[in-house]
Amino acid sequence: MRIGHGYDVHAFGPGACVMLGGVQVPHDRGVVAHSDGDVLLHALCDALLGALGAGDIGQHFPDSDPQWQGASSRVFLRHCASLLAAGGWRLVNADLTLLAEAPRLGGHRTAMRGNIAADLGVDIGRINLKATTCEGLGALGRAEGLACHAVVLLRRADGAGSAG
Ligand code: MG
Repeated sequence: MRIGHGYDVHAFGPGACVMLGGVQVPHDRGVVAHSDGDVLLHALCDALLGALGAGDIGQHFPDSDPQWQGASSRVFLRHCASLLAAGGWRLVNADLTLLAEAPRLGGHRTAMRGNIAADLGVDIGRINLKATTCEGLGALGRAEGLACHAVVLLRRADGAGSAG
């Protein structure tokens, strides 16, 4: 088995929506980012890469590379899924926590979980998505941006011993 943790944060900037879990969520601001700035997927990718011992998202998709300008973060997630498969790993579960005063996940939660499950080739029940505000404390509490923590557990795809 392998465990991984990821964390990402983006500042709010000009715009009228925020990409979260591959869903365009209407908001009174956008996020400052090189890619689409999907904080949920960036944290999740880093958790997966961490579990694989494969570095971090910045090494795989440098923000200095114009190729990734405005890129969909689902491309990053599918890349991580291909690394999992190539290494003989399967996702046991992923648990994500969004830290944001707004926007709220509301009715988008199932669509976000569905996108992530589809990109990772697992049942939606293996993907959990939580959200909390920061009770007005700090930069996130002042709604200057949003952040996400992600934790993943991997198992060997062939069901072999857990030493991995
Ligand atoms: Mg990011």
